[in-house]
Amino acid sequence: MKNVIVIVGAGPAGLMSAIAAAQNYPAAEVVVCEQLSRPGAKLLATGGGKCNLTNILPPDELAKAFGRQWRFMLPALQLMPPQQLREWLMLRGIATVVSDGFHVFPESESARDVLEALLAECHRLKVNIRCQTVVSKILIEHNQICGVIANNEKLSASRVIIATGGRSYPSLGATGSGYLLATQAGHQIIKTFPALSGLQTQEKWPCSCAGIAVENAAITIDIPKYRREIWRGELLFTHHGISGPPIINASRQVSALLEKYPLIPLKINLIADYDLERWLKIFDKWQRDHGVRMVKNLLAEMFPARLAEQLSFISGNENYIAARFPAAARRKLAMHLTALPLNIKSAEPWDKAMITRGGVALKSVDAVTLESRIVPGLHFAGEVLDLDGPCGGYNLQWAFSSGYLAGNLSNNLPT
Ligand SMILES: Cc1cc2nc3c(=O)[nH]c(=O)nc-3n(C[C@H](O)[C@H](O)[C@H](O)COP(=O)(O)OP(=O)(O)OC[C@H]3O[C@@H](n4cnc5c(N)ncnc54)[C@H](O)[C@@H]3O)c2cc1C
Repeated sequence: MKNVIVIVGAGPAGLMSAIAAAQNYPAAEVVVCEQLSRPGAKLLATGGGKCNLTNILPPDELAKAFGRQWRFMLPALQLMPPQQLREWLMLRGIATVVSDGFHVFPESESARDVLEALLAECHRLKVNIRCQTVVSKILIEHNQICGVIANNEKLSASRVIIATGGRSYPSLGATGSGYLLATQAGHQIIKTFPALSGLQTQEKWPCSCAGIAVENAAITIDIPKYRREIWRGELLFTHHGISGPPIINASRQVSALLEKYPLIPLKINLIADYDLERWLKIFDKWQRDHGVRMVKNLLAEMFPARLAEQLSFISGNENYIAARFPAAARRKLAMHLTALPLNIKSAEPWDKAMITRGGVALKSVDAVTLESRIVPGLHFAGEVLDLDGPCGGYNLQWAFSSGYLAGNLSNNLPT
């Protein structure tokens, strides 16, 4: 009887698993079940459609950015490190570039080109991609995987790879159904949170600055144990709070902390290189050179006017001129500029979070094969596992590398 390998999910992890499985086991039939009407819906949305597919870090540094479970990722990342992913794509007609010295994009800046290359390879290897096919159950007999229920019909298989992604952006297929499938096999699911998202503040004033960006901010979580980590970059004010790359990266920590505390205090230095003393010197200079001008108008030469006004208002100095700017008020404004306090009440919800924190617990998955330690023949790849990285090509690299490793199927299927 023909060996059938079923892959659940046609995202980057699922498509790469399918390619590796079809290459390694040419005699087997590789079937990818995708619930949406088209494969790779989320991949198309990555990097604003430009697809930041990886970065230039070596495997161990890339893995460390995922946090304390990073060692689990090494076998997959060593099998297909960033450089090899780029070469793999190059051989399939997709040149990649590192225009800022770190992030890797396809030269065409088109996520569609990356998806097309994966689909062309699937086609060449005769992978059967079945869209609008929902896998609702995995079938296990004598503690061995034996198939799935897809669109209410039994599909027998000697191997099943779950590559269903997480819960973020349900409109792009992330329904969390992979967790139910894993639970059926006895796997534990680590509690999931929306991560890589904007943050909603308790303070209302940021919404009046919605759309304003501050180029070079530095953000810390104002809780003693967490103060050492600093996220830098462009801060964006939104209708509900704050966003932008440093906030999106900080949200991985903040989402988890919100489980413990109702509010998470942040401190924001609005110009990362300026400290309190530097601001006090600037105020002295304003007093000397521009004594009759309003402080808020002088501030508006350094920040967008709406933000300058808000900062002046919350520091209580909106009526001062530079010559009559009392020492206590100066200090207060300098404090707000270097350690602006904002309290986070929630992360943006699942439909705005780029990834999922939490997922299938790693302790019951073999890092070397990505096979279940509970049910032989069941494998996992991509975001469904309890691993999440920051912005910057980390998560797609993990999807591709883990897919490639899972598609090896422990190297013990008959070929
Ligand atoms: C807007 C946005 C932008 C992003 N940009 C970047 C970026 O530039 N760089 C980066 O590294 N990462 C980025 N990410 C994160 C990255 O897209 C994901 O980490 C990655 O897609 C995960 O790949 P995956 O294959 O594990 O899951 P997914 O891409 O989510 O694919 C899973 C697939 O499984 C299907 N599926 C789920 N359940 C079932 C079921 N029961 N039956 C059948 N099919 C099922 C889904 O429909 C889906 O197509 C971004 C995410 C978002 C939302």
